[in-house]
Amino acid sequence: MHFLMDYLKPYVRRMTGGMVCKFLGTIMDLLIPALLAYMLDSIVPTQNRQQIYLYGGLMVLCSILAWMGNVFANRVAAGVARDCTRRIRHDLFGKITHLTAEEIDRFTIPSLISRMTTDTYNVYRMTGMMQRIGIRAPILLIGGIIVTMTRDAALSALLVALLPFMALIVWFISRMGVPLYSEQQKNVDHLTRIVRENLTGIRIIKALSKTDDEKRRFSTINEALAASETKAASVMAVNGPTMQFLLNMGLVLVLVVGARRVNLGLTGPGNIIAFISYFTIILNAMLTITRILTMYSKALASARRIEEVLTGKEETAPDALPVLDETAPHIQFDHVTFSYNKKATDVKDLSFSLNRGQRLGILGPTGAGKSTVIKLLLRLYDPDKGVIRIQGADIRELPLETLRRMFGVVFQNDALFQGNIGDNIRLGREISMEEVDRAIADAQASFIAEKGGLEAEVVSRGQNFSGGQQQRMLLARALAGSPEILILDDASSALDFKTEASLRAALRQGYANTTTIIIAQRISAVMQCDQILVMEDGVPMGLGTHQELMQSCPLYREIAQLQLGGDADE
Ligand code: ADP
Repeated sequence: MHFLMDYLKPYVRRMTGGMVCKFLGTIMDLLIPALLAYMLDSIVPTQNRQQIYLYGGLMVLCSILAWMGNVFANRVAAGVARDCTRRIRHDLFGKITHLTAEEIDRFTIPSLISRMTTDTYNVYRMTGMMQRIGIRAPILLIGGIIVTMTRDAALSALLVALLPFMALIVWFISRMGVPLYSEQQKNVDHLTRIVRENLTGIRIIKALSKTDDEKRRFSTINEALAASETKAASVMAVNGPTMQFLLNMGLVLVLVVGARRVNLGLTGPGNIIAFISYFTIILNAMLTITRILTMYSKALASARRIEEVLTGKEETAPDALPVLDETAPHIQFDHVTFSYNKKATDVKDLSFSLNRGQRLGILGPTGAGKSTVIKLLLRLYDPDKGVIRIQGADIRELPLETLRRMFGVVFQNDALFQGNIGDNIRLGREISMEEVDRAIADAQASFIAEKGGLEAEVVSRGQNFSGGQQQRMLLARALAGSPEILILDDASSALDFKTEASLRAALRQGYANTTTIIIAQRISAVMQCDQILVMEDGVPMGLGTHQELMQSCPLYREIAQLQLGGDADE
């Protein structure tokens, strides 16, 4: 919750203004029954009409002032809540983009989405509510009690006797609430994940007629979420009626005791009417406070989830650029070992070295750790052991911007963004028209001209293009920045053989100075590389040229024979 205070700090003046208005408005509300009692007990018996009008007028004035104060304060409250939440969301989004890949794995993406959306919404509701009724209710409660005390101490004693019971209920709610709502938000995460998976995989789900299974999967979590909501709501629901019961009992006692006191001449009937008004005010204030507590428990659970992200680990890198050694290998892996979960090894003792302009092919079955090698090189994850160097410098000593600007990357499952083709290729970089055209030509993406050129619309995730077309646009995006290092992770899997061959030729001719790493399933895509790395289960099984590996690496030979048949020895 600490962070929320920091976010509210800039609004202290605005909030104070709002609170003062709220305070004055609420005091006006409290005055009205007192004026009524005075009128009934002291002025009506005198039959002085002028005085009656005067006090009636005063009551109207109080109502108007109360209304104005409350409206103004509520506007301020809404404004502060809005501005504060906007800043939290802004920072949260910024923070998420800087989280380390490990932290993102830890939070999970669906959970980050619900933290960005429902959790910030809960905090928004609370900050608004706290300023509106969070101020008003205690003033009404305390003010009401004070006024009743001064009017008739004996009757007020009844009220005071109820307070410990009420306090007990309030304590009970605040203790129970937070864990129940934390549980509920976890289920929201889970639901978001299932919906997200379902929508991303909607085609495959339909194709395999898994719709019913998916419905069942969704129902399970939907019911779990409903159950946790019901549980939280039923615990919270106990307090409202209990409070009301206690206060109604109090009201009955006030009437009984009050009637006796009027009979005995100790007090006037107007006083009893005022007392009952105050009692109702106090009752409502008490109920409101329990409602606030419910909201508060919910928002506290949410605030903790937001704070977890805001204090999450960020990617760190030095700002200063070290001296790069032109004579050192462009990319060098030096006995690199890495594990995602720090148990099973995903890349084991990998060493290789590439000079500028050389091409490395990585071949191996799925799950072999090929993409992980790339993630390590891009510093999405840091190796557990060993060093990765670029021109002699440990990549941990390079500023992240510098490091990542060196690369042009096409990842497996990469996606296009909503917008037009031009924006998707440029991706916010300063890239000249000629460069874009050249990249499109090299990426074999001539179909773009037929589709209406760079202005042609791309829907979210590029769904209005075929898989092969998407892949070529992604290739154009990677090539357009004229990167020093080009990484193609399964980037030509959706291309036909002829197009793939043209792509390979274009890359060889136009990018002789670009160090290239190609991950592929097909041996034909990597066969001509200067070095080929064969991986299986995270273990480097062989490193060398096609000819060398045909001699020395049984796994490579097996793959080659399987894919190339009799041509393998060419
Ligand atoms: P490849 O690219 O060869 O298909 P990957 O490098 O993607 O294989 O994956 C290698 C291994 O690492 C796999 O066993 C995979 O399950 C695991 N892995 C990949 N990404 C993660 C991640 N973010 N968290 C945990 N394990 C991962």
